Amino acid sequence: MFLGHYGAAFAAKKWAPKVSLGLLVLAAVWLDLLWSLFLILHWEDVAISPGITKVIPIDFTNYSLSHSLVMAVAWGVVFWMVSLVLTNNQKTSLILGGLVVAHWFLNVITHRPDLSLLPEGNPMTPRWGLGLWNSVPGTIVVELALLSAGIWLYANATKPVGAKGQWFFWSLCAALIASFAALFFMPVPKAPIWVAIEGQVQLVFVVWALWTDDHRKNA
Ligand SMILES: [Zn+2]
Repeated sequence: MFLGHYGAAFAAKKWAPKVSLGLLVLAAVWLDLLWSLFLILHWEDVAISPGITKVIPIDFTNYSLSHSLVMAVAWGVVFWMVSLVLTNNQKTSLILGGLVVAHWFLNVITHRPDLSLLPEGNPMTPRWGLGLWNSVPGTIVVELALLSAGIWLYANATKPVGAKGQWFFWSLCAALIASFAALFFMPVPKAPIWVAIEGQVQLVFVVWALWTDDHRKNA
């Protein structure tokens, strides 16, 4: 899943008005930032496998440190605890931790059955994934629907402070949709390192979301 994670972050602003959209996005894509870092460190692996799904040509051979359910919950608890220390706000911290864990459940919708329960599970461990990536129209409809719902909630929960508040927000939305569209046109990555670099590019959206939120106030 790609846009759906951003949709969750945008939507969360309604219930966590005190926290910047940048931090909500950071929580929503935290597992992917870890995953792409772990790929660079060779702690996790992918294989380039054109055709393995219609949308994503990647076989997630080992990503259980970042993307098993138990580790997703563990990372969510870390996020919750750090936020609690920094904000002293239980509700905000729970939403940030919840966004980290929600990433796993959103991924279940799109991935092949490659999401495991435990880290370093043996091959017999049950794996989850509903495989929406096997349908191009299905992927487009679900991803755009989740993002649109989030955008709608965020646009109603906040209002711009000056023109920049509009410009940063709508350009962020356009850039997200453009990156999603690029998935369908980009050449197959030549090596796992390129997959990792594409993953780290999401940090740009974290910063973009911070800027956006700096130029908007709660409605
Ligand atoms: Zn992910």
